[in-house]
Amino acid sequence: MSEIRCIGILGGGQLGRMLSAAASRLGLRCHIYEPGAAPAGDVAHALTTAPYDDEAALRAFAESVDVITYEFENVPTSALDLLESIRPIRPNRRALAVSQDRLTEKTFLNGIGLATAPFADVPSERDLADAVARIGTPSILKTRRMGYDGKGQVRITDPEQLEWTGAPSVLEGFVEFSAEISVIIARAADGQVAAFDPGLNVHREGILRSTTVPCGLSGKVTTDAVLIAARIVNALDYVGVMGIELFVTPTGLIVNEIAPRVHNSGHWTQAGCAVDQFEQHIRAVAGLPLGDGKRHVDVVMENLIGEDMDRVPELLTSPRAQIHLYGKGEARPGRKMGHVNRIA
Ligand code: AMP
Repeated sequence: MSEIRCIGILGGGQLGRMLSAAASRLGLRCHIYEPGAAPAGDVAHALTTAPYDDEAALRAFAESVDVITYEFENVPTSALDLLESIRPIRPNRRALAVSQDRLTEKTFLNGIGLATAPFADVPSERDLADAVARIGTPSILKTRRMGYDGKGQVRITDPEQLEWTGAPSVLEGFVEFSAEISVIIARAADGQVAAFDPGLNVHREGILRSTTVPCGLSGKVTTDAVLIAARIVNALDYVGVMGIELFVTPTGLIVNEIAPRVHNSGHWTQAGCAVDQFEQHIRAVAGLPLGDGKRHVDVVMENLIGEDMDRVPELLTSPRAQIHLYGKGEARPGRKMGHVNRIA
């Protein structure tokens, strides 16, 4: 077994909660660091509630754990610098830097030979008209940093009607995709790689609604998707689980986004695989061997968002529905409250 007994997790949302539960099954403890409300704290060994600029709290947190990981990639650089001076951070800083910034991310992906949507750097509102002239319409303006679930994005259909995001952005050409898929892949420190089957994702209003496995696409597409994912984790010398979102187009796969963490579109693995994405991430970070990623059953994962919570009583009576609720308070519109994995 590894020397690691306690894992520090930056971010206390549902991903941290499910990571912590997976760690506990392996006899490990988790310490959560979260400035706000922390559903993960309910199932962890320890919780620190402090902002990311509280040096004393960060130091005490780092000293109490053996290794640090994260469920949230927008942790400020200054906090990471301090934490990394005390304990290793896995996945590494390069993976974080690449995925925190859409411009860096796309440049990195193109640099390792992978296709992205055509894009232009738009540092300020003044640069927008030029970028639209170059990329064309329809296109999507996205803030370089801090975007998630479609937040910080503006759809541009008319070059005469430009709306600004309010922050440095990238303009992306609109991709005419036939499907959106994602690959959840894990890489261990010794270079072992294990991918889960690609899932078919359906988004509404920028938020993931469901993931279906198998994804129903050809063996060529799913193999290509896994090879792309492996190329990304190898290029970053990555340790942990990564979620990679791809668009399926007639001319091949286009990488939309990479997330250096467990991913919503990998929740199906809880019902589909012996070792799910959460345990896989904990194993990688703790220096344990990975599971193989093999899927044993067909699964449809559906997010429970806002008023979807009203469906829980009925779902509880369905024999093939595995329900996960995150223990969050109020079911506000657009808020991810839980998910259900239905097995075939
Ligand atoms: P993102 O926040 O980048 O993951 O975008 C959220 C969702 O918006 C994606 O899952 C797609 O459904 C859609 N989307 C984002 N970028 C593009 C694009 N360049 N072309 C077409 N659809 C997009």
